[in-house]
Amino acid sequence: MVLRAAALFDGVSSALMAGPSVVIADGAITAVHGPAEPPPAGASVIDLPGLTLMPGLVDPHLHLCFDATGDPVGHLAQAGDDLLRQQMAEAARRALRAGVTTVRDLGDRGYLALELRDRDAAGGADPLPAIVAAGPPITTPGGHCHFLGGAVSGKAGLRAAVRERAERGVDVIKVMASGGNMTPGSLAHEPQFSAGWLRAIVDEAHRHGLPVTAHAHSARSVADAVAAGVDGIEHATFMTASGVDAPGALIRTIAARRIAVGWTVGRDPGQAGTVMPQIASRMAGLIATRRRLYESGAVLVPGSDAGVSPAKPHDVLRFAPEDLAAAGLSPAEILQAMTCRAAQACGLGHRKGRIAAGFDADILAVDGNPLEDLAAIRKLRAVHIGGRPVLPAPGSPAGNEER
Ligand SMILES: [Zn+2]
Repeated sequence: MVLRAAALFDGVSSALMAGPSVVIADGAITAVHGPAEPPPAGASVIDLPGLTLMPGLVDPHLHLCFDATGDPVGHLAQAGDDLLRQQMAEAARRALRAGVTTVRDLGDRGYLALELRDRDAAGGADPLPAIVAAGPPITTPGGHCHFLGGAVSGKAGLRAAVRERAERGVDVIKVMASGGNMTPGSLAHEPQFSAGWLRAIVDEAHRHGLPVTAHAHSARSVADAVAAGVDGIEHATFMTASGVDAPGALIRTIAARRIAVGWTVGRDPGQAGTVMPQIASRMAGLIATRRRLYESGAVLVPGSDAGVSPAKPHDVLRFAPEDLAAAGLSPAEILQAMTCRAAQACGLGHRKGRIAAGFDADILAVDGNPLEDLAAIRKLRAVHIGGRPVLPAPGSPAGNEER
């Protein structure tokens, strides 16, 4: 099969290629040709005139088990596993229809995201995005997201929790280093685990060949997570009791060690007025810290945290580019971060996030030049996952129009 279009963003370049033909066999890209090259004999050619091809988007931080309502925690408590499996599959499909072809679930209940991952994602009648999953996040008794079932105490308990996840086959260990915003009684700016306890988790995880990413709003927790040797930090808001405090030396260390900084970005514009007060009061400091992280050269990985609130439906990643532009990223840097770099953060940098020979044929066709108009990623005309079309043909009224 050959996809032929007007232009191509390959996930790493800073300019578009004109007149590309992408050759696909058995779900993978076998070659990318320019306009002079004729399609291979016998290939079925899909013409996408006027459109730009780009790699499928990668969302490295979402929660398929949260339903993006005003009470995801209450609804989760009432849902049995069978209903939850259905809801999680539908959440994943919603992401895929918006061009998110890979997701990393950073906190489920009962390892249900691993079950979804292990279904033949591209082979069924109703494809799902590729899924990378952490299982239930490790937290303290009564701590942030304890209701997902990952509460443990004591160093031996923490190590056993990591081993259990390794045996279950998780792709990454997620630990709630600080409190969080969606758990009553939990304070985002306060640590849950000391650096020593985090080090026990990292040590045990690395022994099993697993990366660790730490949810850390608290400035103290960011420092402790870095000291413990984590591979990634989620949110990284550097919150203190009264504001935001990101020491320059710590930012430089995060950049130098190539620790993945998981920025939480993208909001449904229809829900613009629903920012939490503890975030709203710190907004100026949060924006300034993002600019400093960007200018430091840190590895920035945009994720949505989809599912946690009405502003965060599971296809919300497409609204992330504007948040990244506000932090100083250029359009090319934004698209690279949302494809190639996010795939690397998910451990899939060898298969996902680029349009190049040897990569999976997870390919979007958008109307416009996304390097000139970031909103083009929301003018989605086709989604292919493993070479298979997800959306109807271009021009169909069922296409995913910008809203
Ligand atoms: Zn999260």
